[in-house]
Amino acid sequence: MKKAKGRPRHIPERTCVACRRREAKRGLVRLVRTLEGQVEVDPTGRKPGRGAYLCPRLACWEEAIRRRALNRALRVVLTPEEIERLRQYARSFPAEEEAGAAGQPDPSAPE
Ligand SMILES: [Zn+2]
Repeated sequence: MKKAKGRPRHIPERTCVACRRREAKRGLVRLVRTLEGQVEVDPTGRKPGRGAYLCPRLACWEEAIRRRALNRALRVVLTPEEIERLRQYARSFPAEEEAGAAGQPDPSAPE
């Protein structure tokens, strides 16, 4: 069998449960409800259980917690301990440097 070169590969997309943005799966962070019913961050994306995805942005995590989007997506009620754990994880994300400022001039900006 020959390797199909240059053929567009299917990139699995997922939706952030907070901002509903669609993103390549690897651009999002997976959260999983484990078989024991615990909610954990799943950086490998391979844990068994029901999954939900969030952008690696603190704002999305806070939003998901505030709106209980994870509760809905994972069909679970997050405990205060789990919420605290998720918040701590979210705080480890690099602070956002004004998205889009890196070499992408806004074409609509008057100059
Ligand atoms: Zn998001």
